[in-house]
Formats: sequence, C-alpha cells, structure tokens
Amino acid sequence: MTEPRAAHRWYRDDALIDGAWVKVGAAIPVENPATEQEIGSAASSGPEHVDAAVTAARAAFESWSRMPDSERADHLQALHISLAARRDELVAATVAEVGAPVRVAREAHVDISLDILASYVDLLRVEQLDERIGNSLVLREPAGVVGCITPWNYPLYQLVIKVAAALAAGCTVVAKPAELTPLTAYLLADASLAAALPAGVVNLVPGSGTRVGEAIVTHPDVDVVSFTGSTGVGSRIAAQAAASLKRVCLELGGKSASVVLPDADLETAVRATVDSATVNTGQTCSAWTRLLVPAQRYDEAVSLATKRAGELVVGDPQHEDTDLGPLISARQRQTVLDLVARARSAGAVVTELVDHSGDTGHYVSPVVVSEVAPGDQIVQQEVFGPVLVVLPYDTEDDAVRIANDTDYGLAGAVWAGDEAHALAVARRLRTGQVDVNGAEFNIDAPFGGYKKSGYGRELGRFGLEEFQQIKSVQL
Ligand code: NAD
Repeated sequence: MTEPRAAHRWYRDDALIDGAWVKVGAAIPVENPATEQEIGSAASSGPEHVDAAVTAARAAFESWSRMPDSERADHLQALHISLAARRDELVAATVAEVGAPVRVAREAHVDISLDILASYVDLLRVEQLDERIGNSLVLREPAGVVGCITPWNYPLYQLVIKVAAALAAGCTVVAKPAELTPLTAYLLADASLAAALPAGVVNLVPGSGTRVGEAIVTHPDVDVVSFTGSTGVGSRIAAQAAASLKRVCLELGGKSASVVLPDADLETAVRATVDSATVNTGQTCSAWTRLLVPAQRYDEAVSLATKRAGELVVGDPQHEDTDLGPLISARQRQTVLDLVARARSAGAVVTELVDHSGDTGHYVSPVVVSEVAPGDQIVQQEVFGPVLVVLPYDTEDDAVRIANDTDYGLAGAVWAGDEAHALAVARRLRTGQVDVNGAEFNIDAPFGGYKKSGYGRELGRFGLEEFQQIKSVQL
C-alpha cells in the first residue's frame, strides 16, 4: 500500500520553537529536481514565529551560555550521535531535495557535516585558557542569540557549520533553511530534540527569505546574523543589520581561479579543476571555475578539460556512478544556459552542449568555455552551474593579475612543480583559501571570503570566534 502523500515524513508544516513543534498552518512545497515531482513541504512561517523563536532562544541563552564547556560538549556529542543515527535518511533527503548524486550527498553533504559537528565537540574538550595581557584578563564570551540563514546548495553542511559553532560558543540559534531545501534542516531539528538539547537552544523557522529571513535580520533581540547565500541578499542583510549595529557574518559567492604554473603537471591540474568546477553540478561557492594556464599550453589545456568534462556521468542522482545530477531548479538551469548562450554569441568557444531539454529533471552537461577575455561576463559572473572557463596568461605577474581580477575572493588553487613557488603565488592571491597541488580540504581551517565573497570566517576555532564577544577585566 502506498503511503498517503501528505502523510509522508517529508511533508512538514511546523516550526521548532522552544523545544516543541508548533503548527504553522501554511506550507511551501518541495520539488525533487531530478523527477520534477513534489516530494514534501516545509512550513511557511511568519514574523510571529520568528519572534517566538527569538524569545525562546533568548531565555535559553541564560543557562546555555553559562554552562561549562565540558557540559556543552556532552550536549553536542549527543547531537552528533543523534544526527549520525539519521545518516541514511539525511543522504536520501539530500539526493531528493538537492538532486546531488548519492556519492556526493554521502561524502560532501552528510559525512563532512558529521565530522564538523565532531570537530566542535573536540574543540570544546580542549581547555580554553583565558588570555592575560598585562594586568588584564581577556575573556571570550558567547555573543548571544544567533540567526542562521542558509542557501540550498549544501543545505545540511551550511546549517551544521553555523549551528555547531554557535552552540559550541555558548550561543543559542534561530535557523532558517532555504525554501528549496528544508528537508535536511528538519532532520537536524529532529535530531536536536532526540538528543534532548535544552528547549530553546535550537529553533527552526522555515519560510521565505523576505518574511522569515528579514524578520530574523531585523529582530532587535538577535545579536549576530550568520548568512550564506548570494552577494545581493548578503549586501541587503548587511545594510539592514547596520540599523541596529548587529554583527553579521557573510559567506557569499565566488569565481575562484585555479592557476597552473609552467612546471606543474598540467593533466592532473586540469582534471582536478574540471572536477572542482562541476562537483555538486557546479553549485559550489568555492568551485574553481576559472582555469589559468600558460599561453603556450592553452590548446592542450582546453582539450584536456574538454576530455575530462566528457568523461563525467550526468544522470540519475540515485546511481552510485553518477557524477552530476540535475541543477536545483528550472530557473537555475535557464540562468546557466542563458549565460553560456550569451558567451557563445559574444565569440567564446563552447564545448558541445548535450541537449537535455526533452529530459525530465533540470539537467545540464558540463561545459568548457574558451577564447574569452578576462572582462567577459562568463569570466566575471558566478554561473552556479557546471561551467569552466579557460584563460591563457603570459607571465606569472599576468596570472596573478588575472586571478585577482574579480569581484570575488573565496577560494583558489595553485599548481606547481615546486611547493615553495606555489606558496609564493598563493600569498599573492586575494582570496580566503588556496589549495596547493590539490591539497585536501581542512575542516578545522578558516573558510571565508575577501571582497564581495563576504566577511567573517567559518569552521574550526575561527568559526567559533564569530560568535564570541571579548571582554577585558583589569585586575
Ligand atoms: P540566496 O541569497 O537567494 O538565499 C540564501 C538564503 O537567504 C535563503 O535561505 C533565502 O531564503 C534567504 N533570503 C533571501 N532573501 C532574504 C532577505 N531579504 N533577507 C534575509 N534572508 C533572505 O542564495 P541561494 O540562491 O540560496 O544560494 C546561492 C548563492 O549562495 C550563490 O551565490 C553561492 O555562491 C552562495 N553560496 C556561498 C557560500 C559561501 O560559503 N561563501 C556557500 C554556498 C552558497
């Protein structure tokens, strides 16, 4: 017997406020981008729910903020156990709501989120010594109630990195997931209840950006807003928060460069860059979407990139061997196709696009764009689809100039035969992260942007500090 549609566990219309699910009464449907079928819903909350959640978070802050680190670590560990117990459902929900291939959902969405939560348990277990400066004792104190507003591309990860760091710092949270991807956020909230976190420490208020998001940003009792999303919305949030001098942490867009120096292994570098540009179907803020290669090896690099792009398997995200699932929505697909079409009509060479227009699902195949100028729209604008542009450079100074010739500064890569040389170039890049020769992502290292990629840092100790206030006590 099939389960009645609205009885499916992914049909929700409630908000988590003060440790209890509160019926909101209105819901926003959730679509599976691979099947284009409705698979669930989330509450369409309003400002009144935000107000109740902030009041609960403020009340819970009293004891949560004063709790010894070791006790908070126990609570976070319980949350980790409870979230890990939901791993399979988190993976299924990520595949369903994002369209992420199951392998990517497991590794880059769910397992990494569990690891990050565990990293904050570890951080709290290490004794945090207050700092002495002369006759002053410098204390790090919880900043207060934190509003967490997250995007749809890595929904669980984005929420966990904010919530885990804020809770570890001794703050309480009011979280709002993206409208398109609320299902994993509900599972995180369920896990917080099952872990018996004190009521009001974690509140979840799903709903639209303009109603719920703005209500969080403008609420007088929210002390810090931690936002990940587009540069446009980030800048609006910063302007709104300025009215109350609220602290804001912004993780925004990117257009990161992968700089291949002449003595690098070109094939390895190009392959890794194509993979970075297309992971999560190109919907990754830190993706390396501009490949910079020495001019004399340009043609070779374009053909290597085209070959790698052609090897990637586009298809059903439920299959283990799928590399790229669909884009998140019909709208996102149209945006990507329009940007590529505009580049082509401006003279760029675009690898042949597989036509997915008749398919069910918002599919786009990986695209390599060459013969472009550094100022072209496709080179400057974040596409948020599986699109890589390849640019030639003449000298190293040239490479650095082109890499930095962007409004963004979130991530990047340098490839070289000599690591010290790569590091010297990495130092010249105006960006928050640089990976040398494909080095691994480090969940304890600070992540965040320069320029229009935002300000503030997430992950590890630096991520925790976003949610702390500093007090000097003279003795
Ligand atoms: P978005 O800015 O449209 O939405 C992000 C969140 O903000 C959503 O929850 C949305 O409901 C909410 N929101 C929208 N309008 C709001 C308002 N006026 N006030 C308060 N909240 C509001 O972004 P998106 O389309 O969901 O995500 C894609 C963008 O996010 C891309 O530009 C991408 O680069 C960026 N991103 C950045 C990072 C990073 O760490 N730097 C990570 C992931 C995504």
